[in-house]
Amino acid sequence: MRLGTGGIVHPDAERDGVGDTPCVCCGKATRGERWVHLAGYGGQFVTEDEPVDETEDLGWFPIGPECAKKLPAGYVSSGA
Ligand SMILES: [Zn+2]
Repeated sequence: MRLGTGGIVHPDAERDGVGDTPCVCCGKATRGERWVHLAGYGGQFVTEDEPVDETEDLGWFPIGPECAKKLPAGYVSSGA
């Protein structure tokens, strides 16, 4: 199931400068311990086990612990 980001994806999230792993939501530095998968136009959260076509796969992004709490279970990966 897709979950719209509702505009919470931070505009600076893809920028460098906040360490290597700025939170995708707020742009604050993270330790890279939690990750979310984004896909589709504008970016939507997808659950860990949802297959995503590579043409719309935006990749995995780091998310901070506080922002991760706002997402339902299944959307946040502890990484590998
Ligand atoms: Zn955040």
